[in-house]
Amino acid sequence: MDAKKLDSSYIVPTYNRFDLLISSGKGSTLYDENGREYIDFGTGIAVNTFGVCDDEWTFAVKSQIEKVQHTSNLYYNEPCSVLAKLLCEKTGLSKVFFSNSGAEANECAIKTARKYGTDKNPEKNVIITLKNSFHGRTVTTLSATGQDVFHKNFTPFTEGFLYVSPNEKDELLNAVSDKVCAVMIEIVQGEGGINVLNRDYLDLIKEITEKNDILLIVDEVQTGNGRTGKMYSYMNFDLNPDIVTTAKGLAGGLPMGATLFGRRSCDVLTSGDHGSTFGGNPVCASGAISIVSRLDEKLFSDVRKKGEYIKERLVKTDGVLDVSGLGLMIGVKTKADAKEVAKKCLSNGLLVLTAKDKIRFLPALNISFCEIDKGLDIFEKVLKGEI
Ligand SMILES: *Cc1c(COP(=O)(O)O)cnc(C)c1O
Repeated sequence: MDAKKLDSSYIVPTYNRFDLLISSGKGSTLYDENGREYIDFGTGIAVNTFGVCDDEWTFAVKSQIEKVQHTSNLYYNEPCSVLAKLLCEKTGLSKVFFSNSGAEANECAIKTARKYGTDKNPEKNVIITLKNSFHGRTVTTLSATGQDVFHKNFTPFTEGFLYVSPNEKDELLNAVSDKVCAVMIEIVQGEGGINVLNRDYLDLIKEITEKNDILLIVDEVQTGNGRTGKMYSYMNFDLNPDIVTTAKGLAGGLPMGATLFGRRSCDVLTSGDHGSTFGGNPVCASGAISIVSRLDEKLFSDVRKKGEYIKERLVKTDGVLDVSGLGLMIGVKTKADAKEVAKKCLSNGLLVLTAKDKIRFLPALNISFCEIDKGLDIFEKVLKGEI
């Protein structure tokens, strides 16, 4: 059976796939159906936190599957409770709601912010988001996403979002009113091209949200769970968000989203306000525990060192115009077209992602320096036109 042919016959063509079928892997090395090797700098878009089939994660997931695979939220579930405690201890936040994806984690944050606002004033329902952001693919999270390209079809969109340009303080100040219930940001815009927000802009967001009874929602779907060299990317700055959303790398390769609530927001949602059939699934939660319990200072310091090492090599590379990012979330502006560079890397055994007009690296947090060198050697040769 030719999977590629079946795909084009039977799957809706929403994905512009690379010409690769990944059939197995270990850590940061993947294999196609012919046994050809690839170094993985993409981790399935920041999902396989400790690479493919990491031993501890595999053991945790297998053990839970053999006990019970699903319980529903009508009953208690131990992995889900243990994971919630871990997440709260590692962030200082108070409570968690579990879902299955980043978009759902953001939907939950948006619902909470609106209830928080409208409980006080029926018109306090506006959420400020940033231009060039990405918050998901449901109608409401697309609406939250501040990019016109995502607002072409599928009308009518959910109302109540105000978009401001990142790092433009006056625009933000002008957008604030007593109708605003929340500001929602990515500290590093991922899909938007690995743009880190300025520190003084974040200071202003902190001041505005703390002084005006406005919730600060940080979308950590891509930046979360160790990716930027801290547990969550807001921890690189002096911020105390009210709501933190995460997904992608949380369960190391299984679908799981989480919305974390601080003191101001943890009592907003009550019985019947929200729910999810699969949310907090014990197999996903067990996978997540095996990931989250290993996210400690030693690992974060390694992530930062590896990130710095990659950036140092990149800035010395011919054909590289600019390097951005935090930790192991790295954007590379290349002289050559990013899509073409990504394709050439693939045909030479290196998987990289793109974000807007940049190449994007999101390698496993435990990638070795040897694997980093192997990948960067290929990348440099591609940019030099040697391969
Ligand atoms: C990927 C992503 C989402 C959407 O996550 P899904 O799991 O695809 O729904 C939301 N926000 C950010 C910042 C993301 O990177």
